[in-house]
Amino acid sequence: RWKKEFKARRKLFNTIQELRGNIRVFCRVRPLKEATLTSGLPAKVVVSFPDAAADDENSRIQIGPKCFEFDHVFPPVADQKAVYDETAGVVASVLDGYNVCVFAYGQTGSGKTHTMSGPEEDRGVNYRALVDLFDIANQRSEFQEVNISVSMVEIYNENLRDLIRGNNKSTPPKLDIRKDPSSQSPNAVHVPNLTEITVDSVEAVWGLMERGSQNRRQGKTNMNEHSSRSHLILKVMVTCEDYSSGVKSSGLLHLVDLAGSERVGRSNVSGERLKEAQHINKSLATLGDVFMSLLSHNNHVPYRNSKLTYLLQDALGGDSKTLMFVNVSADDSDSSETLSSLQFAQRVAKVELGSARKHTEKTEETRALASLQTKETELREVK
Ligand code: ADP
Ligand code: MG
Repeated sequence: RWKKEFKARRKLFNTIQELRGNIRVFCRVRPLKEATLTSGLPAKVVVSFPDAAADDENSRIQIGPKCFEFDHVFPPVADQKAVYDETAGVVASVLDGYNVCVFAYGQTGSGKTHTMSGPEEDRGVNYRALVDLFDIANQRSEFQEVNISVSMVEIYNENLRDLIRGNNKSTPPKLDIRKDPSSQSPNAVHVPNLTEITVDSVEAVWGLMERGSQNRRQGKTNMNEHSSRSHLILKVMVTCEDYSSGVKSSGLLHLVDLAGSERVGRSNVSGERLKEAQHINKSLATLGDVFMSLLSHNNHVPYRNSKLTYLLQDALGGDSKTLMFVNVSADDSDSSETLSSLQFAQRVAKVELGSARKHTEKTEETRALASLQTKETELREVK
């Protein structure tokens, strides 16, 4: 029976997803910084939640006179589980053959790594997503063979590096991105020589990620600085094959911890710092341009303008699903970066949720949700 239930849920989830569009934006506000709390001065919080929900049922966030609306807004009280619960549906659709991309965007210190990786005692989206994938794979094992493999790469100064393969003596080899000649999809890309390892448990993935982090640290005097200036991408490839029908599907899940989005004042930096800043600006701006082109159905999508978007080409667009976290700080001292992150995210979220269409979408969404509830009641009665 769970199979039926699972299918009904998935189908309705997909319907809702289609109505909402394939790009969703969640805003997460981190708790005030330790330094702010211990400064002895009264802490000044610059954001508020006009929906005034005590829990995390917000969709709006206010900063100064400006109000922004997203698919979901998580206030500082929202924990890792609450955040993941909203993400789970998108992640599970990888097992239905969708390509999914989850990004964390925001200034350094805004909680991107906390959201994606999280501390060991309170894991973030990456770990929880993998737990879910393996759980569903196990549930399906009666009638499907599910194969999961992972790769881990870093993009720093427009150079792509394999983080799993590097060893302690040498820096990981640089990689190229090519069009995939073996795929029918015009968007499929291929990275020759990228290590791809088949995994059978979350622990195995974690072991690999640990190795990847060590390789990433290799030779870096200041890891925090380095990680805030590079993009980290965990790529999870999932293939399913039905034992009886032989029907195959494959889906990709990209989990991306982006470089810090803060604008680096031209006058303050030079040399290496300036080069890093220029590369980051370029790739984040291209990411924004790609979203804009996709949402306005432009024929030309500028994927190739940065390594990040080129690498993610087959996971952005088409019927792939994208979820962007915009991580922000509520501290007064971060207000200008918070505002600019919210503006970036709003541009991404807005196009599909235009005012006129939104109304009908919401109505249809309400209908789909009502139908989901009816289905769930029916399923409960069947039991
Ligand atoms: P980023 O990756 O965006 O630079 P981090 O995720 O490393 O930022 O966050 C900076 C610091 O703030 C870390 O010590 C992290 O543990 C803490 N932090 C961020 N978000 C939260 C949160 N929601 N709850 C608790 N601590 C957080
Ligand atoms: Mg980080």
